[in-house]
Amino acid sequence: MNSNLATVTGIDAPTGLFIGGRWADGRSGGLPVVDPSTGEAVAEVANATVEDALDAVGAAHEALPGWAATPPRQRAECLRRAFELMGARAEPLARLMVLENGKALRDARGEVAYAAEFFRWYAEEAVRIDGSMSVAPSGANRILVQRQPVGVSVLITPWNFPAAMATRKIGPALAAGCTVVLKPASETPLTALAVAALLQEAGVPDGVVNVLPTRSPGPVVAAMLADPRVRKLSFTGSTEVGRVLLHQAADTVTNCSMELGGNAPFIVFDDADISAAVEGAFVAKMRNGGEACTAANRFYVHEAVADEFTARFADRLSGLKVGPGLDEATDVGPLVNEDTRSKVSGLVQQAAARGSQVLIGGQSPERPGYFYLPTVLDRVAPDAEILRTEIFGPVAPIVRFSAESEAVGWANDTEYGLVCYVYTRDLRRGLRVAEALETGMVGLNRGIVSDPAAPFGGVKQSGLGREGGHDGLLEFTESKYIAVDW
Ligand code: NAP
Repeated sequence: MNSNLATVTGIDAPTGLFIGGRWADGRSGGLPVVDPSTGEAVAEVANATVEDALDAVGAAHEALPGWAATPPRQRAECLRRAFELMGARAEPLARLMVLENGKALRDARGEVAYAAEFFRWYAEEAVRIDGSMSVAPSGANRILVQRQPVGVSVLITPWNFPAAMATRKIGPALAAGCTVVLKPASETPLTALAVAALLQEAGVPDGVVNVLPTRSPGPVVAAMLADPRVRKLSFTGSTEVGRVLLHQAADTVTNCSMELGGNAPFIVFDDADISAAVEGAFVAKMRNGGEACTAANRFYVHEAVADEFTARFADRLSGLKVGPGLDEATDVGPLVNEDTRSKVSGLVQQAAARGSQVLIGGQSPERPGYFYLPTVLDRVAPDAEILRTEIFGPVAPIVRFSAESEAVGWANDTEYGLVCYVYTRDLRRGLRVAEALETGMVGLNRGIVSDPAAPFGGVKQSGLGREGGHDGLLEFTESKYIAVDW
């Protein structure tokens, strides 16, 4: 297998392991990459073993002192060049992502722009890592507090945003002076490898960024977390895997940032601007075909406006074109794999069997690939399984409520706490409800919250720590307190 560059359906893409600035074949066969719109393999990338992972940790460890000592302005300039290169390569990168993830090209283009912004934002943040100096209350000495890079960081990303989840971690890590080993999801390694190539071209020194696709995430990640040279884990993925990794990280007391699953409620009050709520619901549900941790998972609509909202929302979704992501006319691409599709289909069937009305969709179209039609379910029972599970597909279950307290109670009745969306014209109610919701983020009259300049993250079992904004940078630093006498 060629480790350097393969032409994947017309797009040049690296397919090797990226360790210490070099592309390697790996010691143990390959990892096939499948196009979800056909179910066919389109490429094969190298498959990292535990030995490869330890080599990558070694490379990151060796590069750490030099990178941490590199002037912040120089680190910033590497990130700024990466931002510009990503803009220049946006189209091939978006197409590569569609190929392995399936998402519609317009979603992929949006993601590349969003992903590049993390490089720009953290180029700006790299020169703003401050500390503090104060007088001890006793007056006996000075308290000097400095921020230092936490060290070698293992970054683990999911398949749903293969570029943005990588840059949201690499950007702040590099800005803070950390070196990294990135393990991308096995469904979407090509985008991560392309990002690594781009960072090398931007001038990031050898060993600062290493990328390891693997068929054996469990052993590979466990070996890295057991290695005392690794000081940080930044994970984005399911709550289930996050729990396993928190246990593993406990053995070496490794610093953890966790961006985990969501179960976002979308609440529409009777005084909402219904046109705005329908449009917000559309974005919150259908961005990335519903495969987003921020995706609206449950709709709570006041009974006075439920008929109007539901009819207009179903109408909005029924006009969407479902097809291969690379087709310019496509609004909704396939789901990422067959397991995801059968899970989505099972949840819909279960809800229908319990009396929910399937207004549109509710099935897969007759074609190859892992497609599922946009679906709206009305009059879903408040205790239905579909409201407790992260759907991760284009399905909108609607529940009617009559009182604010009922909607807030239902919204909070989950172990997740990532994001909630609220539509109301009454700002007092909007802010009151936003405060009462047990989530890390709230979209108030807005169906999208993601922004590289804002602290993104969840409470409860949706995660620990924040990505984006200044908080995202601090996750890759530790405070050093120096008691000074002079
Ligand atoms: P996942 O199954 O948890 O996988 C995430 C990553 O963990 C992948 O790279 C995966 O590798 C790896 N992994 C799986 N098992 C592992 C193990 N035993 N040890 C170490 N690593 C392991 O999640 P996913 O299905 O890719 O992504 C969807 C989930 O991510 C959803 O729950 C979604 O809500 C969440 N998500 C959260 C955010 C956020 O910011 N909060 C953003 C995006 C997605 P393999 O691919 O090889 O299995």
